Amino acid sequence: LFGEVPQATPVAVFKLSNDFKEDPNPKKVNLGVGAYRTDEGQPWVLPVVKKVEKIIVEDNSLNHEYLPILGLPEFRSSASKIALGEDSPAIQENRVGAVQCLGGTGALKMGAEFLRRWYNGNDNTKTPVYVSAPTWENHNAVFANAGFEDVRPYKYWDAEKRGLDLDGFLGDLESAPKHSIFVLHACAHNPTGTDPTHVEWMQVAEVMKRRKLFVFFDSAYQGFASGCLDKDAWAVRYFVTQGFEMFCAQSFSKNFGLYNERVGNLTIVARDSDNLKRVLSQMEKIVRVTWSNPPSQGARLVAITLNTPELFAEWLTAGSGTPGTHTTHTADRHSFTGLNPKQVQYMIKERSIYLMASGRINMCGLTTKNIDYVAESIHETVVN
Ligand code: PMP
Repeated sequence: LFGEVPQATPVAVFKLSNDFKEDPNPKKVNLGVGAYRTDEGQPWVLPVVKKVEKIIVEDNSLNHEYLPILGLPEFRSSASKIALGEDSPAIQENRVGAVQCLGGTGALKMGAEFLRRWYNGNDNTKTPVYVSAPTWENHNAVFANAGFEDVRPYKYWDAEKRGLDLDGFLGDLESAPKHSIFVLHACAHNPTGTDPTHVEWMQVAEVMKRRKLFVFFDSAYQGFASGCLDKDAWAVRYFVTQGFEMFCAQSFSKNFGLYNERVGNLTIVARDSDNLKRVLSQMEKIVRVTWSNPPSQGARLVAITLNTPELFAEWLTAGSGTPGTHTTHTADRHSFTGLNPKQVQYMIKERSIYLMASGRINMCGLTTKNIDYVAESIHETVVN
C-alpha cells in the first residue's frame, strides 16, 4: 500500500541539526536553528520559566480538563496585549480577539485556513498571497497547504545594497491585485535580519490601505530586534492606528524559549465586536477539526508570566542577564553572511560550522568560545 510513496526532501534546518549532531569534530558549531544557548552551547531554560513551572506544579487548583476550543482566555488576552499594547483602542473597543494555536506555525495555519474559507466573502483559492523574498521557508508551504494556489514573492532584500529593497517592495504592493494577502514580518525579519524603518513602514501602510491589501503580520521574534517589546511591536500597532482589519500570528517559542511546548496566538483585529464574534465562531469550527483544543502547559506558563507584574519584569530582563550569546537583543537575531552555497558547503565540510545554504546564520550558536573559530573560518572560506 505504501510502495509508491515518494521520499520527501528533509526540512533543511532540521537536517542541518541532525548532520551537526552526527559530526564528531569537537570544534563543530551549529549556526542553523535559533534556540537559546549557554556559553557552553547547551540549551538554556529561562529562570523565570523554571519558576513558573514550579508554581504550576504546586497549584492544586489546576487540572488537566480540556481547555476551551479557542484556548486559555487569560493567555489569549495577555498575548494580544503585548502585540497591540496595553492601551490599544482596538482592545478597548472590544474588536480584538485571539485563538491559542500550536506555535507561530499553528497561528499562521489557522489564519490561512480561515482566510481561504471566509476572507472577503469569497472562495479564496485564487487570491494571491505574497510572502517576502526571501522569507522563512515555511510561509510558502503553510499558505499553499491551506488551499491558496497563488503564493508569490514580493521584493524585499536588495542583495547588492545589502538592505531593504524599498522601491521594489512598494512597487509590488502597488501592482498587487486588490485584496491580495501580504505576510509581513513584524520585526527581526527572517532570514535577512533587516526591518523597514518607521518611515518605511508608514509608506508600506499607505499603499496597503489605498490598494485594499490584507495585512497578516508574523511576529515570531518580539523582543529580539530592539530588546524592547513595545518597540518591536511598532509596525503592528501603527497598522492598527491606520484602521486595518488584520491578523497577527505570534510565537512564544523564541522569546520564552518554549520551542517544544508549541505556544502561539493568532490575534485578530476586526472592524467591530460583531464582526469579531462571527470570525471567532468560524475559527472555533476550524480548530475543532484540526486539533480540537489546544494544550495547556505552555499557555499557562506564558499567561502567568505576562499577568504577574514581578514575573513579567523578570521575563523582560531575562534575555540580557543570561549567559551565552543569545543576548542578540542588541542586534538582529539573524544575519546574512553573504556566503554563497559553495562557501557554505566548505564551512560545513571543512570547518564543521553548520549554516543554512542561503548563508543565513543564527546568532544563538555563537559563544565567546567559538566566535574566533567561526570568524577565522569565514575568513579562510572567503579567501579560498
Ligand atoms: N515565523 C517565523 C518568521 C519564524 O522564523 C518561525 C520559527 N522559526 C515561526 C514563524 C514559527 O515559530 P514556531 O516554532 O512557534 O511555530
